[in-house]
Amino acid sequence: MREFGSSLLPLLSGIGGVGSVAAEMLTRCGIGRLLLYDYDKVELANMNRLFFRPEQVGMTKTDAAVQTLADINPDVVLESYTMNITTVQGFETFMSSLKSKTFHPTKEGSGVDLVLSCVDNYEARMAVNQACNELNQTWMESGVSEDAVSGHIQLLIPGETACFACAPPLVVASGVDERTLKREGVCAASLPTTMGVVAGLLVQNTLKLLLQFGHVSPYLGYNSLKDYFPTMEMRPNPQCSNAACLERQKEYILAKPARDAAAKTKMEAEALLDIELPLHADNEWSISVVDDSELERSGASGSGPADTLPEGLTRELPSADEFQKLPAADTTTTAIDDLEELRKQLDALNT
Ligand SMILES: [Zn+2]
Repeated sequence: MREFGSSLLPLLSGIGGVGSVAAEMLTRCGIGRLLLYDYDKVELANMNRLFFRPEQVGMTKTDAAVQTLADINPDVVLESYTMNITTVQGFETFMSSLKSKTFHPTKEGSGVDLVLSCVDNYEARMAVNQACNELNQTWMESGVSEDAVSGHIQLLIPGETACFACAPPLVVASGVDERTLKREGVCAASLPTTMGVVAGLLVQNTLKLLLQFGHVSPYLGYNSLKDYFPTMEMRPNPQCSNAACLERQKEYILAKPARDAAAKTKMEAEALLDIELPLHADNEWSISVVDDSELERSGASGSGPADTLPEGLTRELPSADEFQKLPAADTTTTAIDDLEELRKQLDALNT
């Protein structure tokens, strides 16, 4: 696992309900540098979300964010741009900050480690997609549905995974009746809870990607009504309408032999390290070695089928067996109760 150095440089586009919380999390984690892009101002209507405070109303979101984040962790270098990346000038500035090699003179394509998209509209996502495809820059997209009860994050690696133009964007179906959520004259719903969860998932996967630990989800959805988290992988579309995406796809295919060779070397090295191979895995007596954890899962401890847990869940407390033994200590009490009962019956017979 790597450690945060001053070189880790995420660029955050959009500091609304998800982006501002993600920025705060990254700042508190001590990310080296953070570039922020937004063109909006803080409004009183934003107070049903996290991060911004009433006294910041009227400030640009970038200025307000820098004020709060610098206060939380003065060691994080913050750079902010108050511009709309869907305008010509905004897009050019966005591209030049991606291309800037100030912090990564040797990094290919782009000068930042990761772009996080926390924008709230299709045009802005397409602008991030265009810039990242052109510069071969990995990015993570995030979104919360208009009904505020579901959201998603998605990892986009140009040429390797589907880009934003490759396929219609995936959203998590909430199953809520739209009529109960949308009414005339009432603006789109917004919940700090859903936004907080999505920001947490986004930053968790950002940390895994940048610090190289765990598994980074290619796509992770969140349906709050069912607490359902669908996940999936999306391959790039060979007929994608984005020319830069097609270029990256070609490069990715061309680099396949080198990638396969590297994977083979890695697997061979790992196989050499694997000294815990089972002895006589195949034998004429059909004897097999069962892992302790499997015994536990299959309920072999004797606690019955009610004790079987779904895959991936374990108990924090000791097994139920330990607790079932406890009433045994009460046997004496029960015995006394029984004796008293017996004496009462005898007394009754004697009278
Ligand atoms: Zn594409």
